[in-house]
Amino acid sequence: MLTIYFRQSTTSILGVYKRLLNSQCIYCLQASASNICLDCQAALPTLGQHCPKCSEPNHHGQLCGHCLQQPPAFDEVICPFVFQPPISDLIHRWKKRPHALGVELLVQRLLASLSEHEFDAVVAVPYYWKKLLWRGHNPVRKLAKQISKQLHTPLLDAISRSQSGHAQRGLGRKQRLKNLRGVFALKPKYKAQLRHKNILLVDDVVTTGATCNHISKLLKAAGAQSITLACLARTAPSS
Ligand SMILES: [Zn+2]
Ligand SMILES: [Zn+2]
Repeated sequence: MLTIYFRQSTTSILGVYKRLLNSQCIYCLQASASNICLDCQAALPTLGQHCPKCSEPNHHGQLCGHCLQQPPAFDEVICPFVFQPPISDLIHRWKKRPHALGVELLVQRLLASLSEHEFDAVVAVPYYWKKLLWRGHNPVRKLAKQISKQLHTPLLDAISRSQSGHAQRGLGRKQRLKNLRGVFALKPKYKAQLRHKNILLVDDVVTTGATCNHISKLLKAAGAQSITLACLARTAPSS
């Protein structure tokens, strides 16, 4: 009798437990309280040894050749993940759909890495309006807004984007820089708010860092004291 009672109560407890775990892992499809289960979270490609300036992954943790030759205008990159599957797929999905499952985990990891830092202002890398219209949302600005709220730091829309620039993908470092000329500009009314300030510049993915370097130069020319980049993922040298 007692055994039957225990069996029944165990079954009902399991039922409640299963209902509580109403979502499943998007990768292994196991029941999980979050969209990515703990095992799959542990397998995500986190950023290991990297260049202390541009965060490019390497095996020695020293400055990379590019930063030694031509130091970028930004000071540091804070980034939790390497841009490779499944992180790259997650980010591609998030760009298309604002509520793509799994991305919140990446955002939370980035927020955790930023929690020890203090900045005076947050600036988002702007995207061309036609591209945003096509996408229907501006994921990078939303990310910047979330960061600004979490850090209790103002978000300044200090940079304008006057044209799309041709797609950066597939271009070398030099061509990327050339491609960016005249695309971004500092909005004059923000100049006074940037002087002597420590700025957090937000983008989704940093590839060569050409775009962020270009914007960092504009911010430093306006008198910003330091520029730290925050992104969800950093590409590895070969990609
Ligand atoms: Zn899983
Ligand atoms: Zn570097």
